[in-house]
Amino acid sequence: MSVDSEIQYAPARLDLAGKVALVTGGTRGIGRGIVLAMAAAGAKVIVSGRDRSNAEDVVAATRKVGTEGDLVVCDLFDDDAVDTLISDTVALAGKLDILVNNAGIDADGPMIDYDLETWRRVIRFDLEVPMRLSQQAARHFVANGGGSIVNIASVLSQVAVAEAGAYTPAKHGVLGLTRTMALELGKQGVRVNCVAPGLIQTDMTNNLWGSEAGMAYARDRIPCGRIGQPRDIGGAVVFLASEAADFIHGQVIVVDGGSLAT
Ligand code: NDP
Repeated sequence: MSVDSEIQYAPARLDLAGKVALVTGGTRGIGRGIVLAMAAAGAKVIVSGRDRSNAEDVVAATRKVGTEGDLVVCDLFDDDAVDTLISDTVALAGKLDILVNNAGIDADGPMIDYDLETWRRVIRFDLEVPMRLSQQAARHFVANGGGSIVNIASVLSQVAVAEAGAYTPAKHGVLGLTRTMALELGKQGVRVNCVAPGLIQTDMTNNLWGSEAGMAYARDRIPCGRIGQPRDIGGAVVFLASEAADFIHGQVIVVDGGSLAT
């Protein structure tokens, strides 16, 4: 047996050169950070989101780190767009190796009078859309020798906070979806895992960053002493999508500055 065959975590195993990745919600926030990390690891990354100008800006940034990205502009509340995003990506890039289900929304509120339409909207966007995209990607992967799905969940896939509305149930569901699909697809060469970010400074959490009280609240909840940034999430995604993680199925990497450890 050669020494090489004993080493799973050599740097080359983190190389995504030759891979095509689709990142939903890649136009800003955590998604943009993931796109850039994957591009830096060598992947051709297809950026999806509604905002063409932001998507073009991210694609231009991928060129600066040495790879050619591309974009698919779509609204994932549009059923037709959900049904065609994977095939559109394959048509654009020639293949697909990695799906990152990152796009997400939230809508806070106490459950006792949480609006049913809002509940349906959040569950649909944060749980049903990743499920449907994963189904289609998995079919492509099974037919083409394998692939990897990385779902962006949240620390709220494992714990709850009061008044986060449908977001916590949806993110718990993302963890369940990850485990279910991992069990069903592992033998067919498809790995499904998720990354669970803690508080990250993006538009989604904008309500915190405008005031000293909000900043202090965030800092108090993060043991490592700083607020998470979009660039903090990409490393875990690259790792899970890479060959270095070949034996990792149905798992979650928490990236939260230590908040779940308390
Ligand atoms: P942002 O609100 O900053 O960005 C959301 C992304 O989703 C944007 O790229 C946006 O693109 C895209 N998006 C929103 N609505 C639609 C739509 N209808 N159709 C297509 N794309 C859409 O969110 P974050 O970057 O903060 O969050 C990214 C992921 O990380 C989410 O799944 C979130 O739940 C999760 N997360 C975030 C945390 C945080 O503290 N920020 C913590 C834990 C998890 P565009 O506007 O171009 O459509």
